[in-house]
Amino acid sequence: MSTFDSNKIKSDIADLKNKKSTLLLSLQNDIDEIISKKKASFVNIGERAYTLSRKEKSDNLASLEAVFETIDKHNDDLAAKEQKKLDIAARYDEEIDMLEKLIPLMLAQPEPEPPAPTQAFCSSCGKSYVLGEDLFCMGCGAKL
Ligand SMILES: [Zn+2]
Repeated sequence: MSTFDSNKIKSDIADLKNKKSTLLLSLQNDIDEIISKKKASFVNIGERAYTLSRKEKSDNLASLEAVFETIDKHNDDLAAKEQKKLDIAARYDEEIDMLEKLIPLMLAQPEPEPPAPTQAFCSSCGKSYVLGEDLFCMGCGAKL
């Protein structure tokens, strides 16, 4: 009984760990994608700054404002995703930790002992017999 229950908990823990890994991996993919877009935005800024400086002979950075805003948004998204990763890890770790602490408690529970057979003694010869099982005395054959 307790062994079965602790196996169930171990299986639940494995499920939680798998779920946690899947969620964190998915978030990490999102993060990698945002970082990649952010790099592209910086390349865009560099090219436009170069063009402004060399071809348009201008130091006006106003036309770059939209790209700056895109990068600000990427930074906000990244911060939110990183926080979500921390939240998910903490939530799952708390649940896994709680279940792991249950296992030794469950294994420590004593197995219920089978009820001891009730012994009686033959009124004729005094030989012991099991109440409710033996119909005749094994010693003298008397009906019990
Ligand atoms: Zn007897």
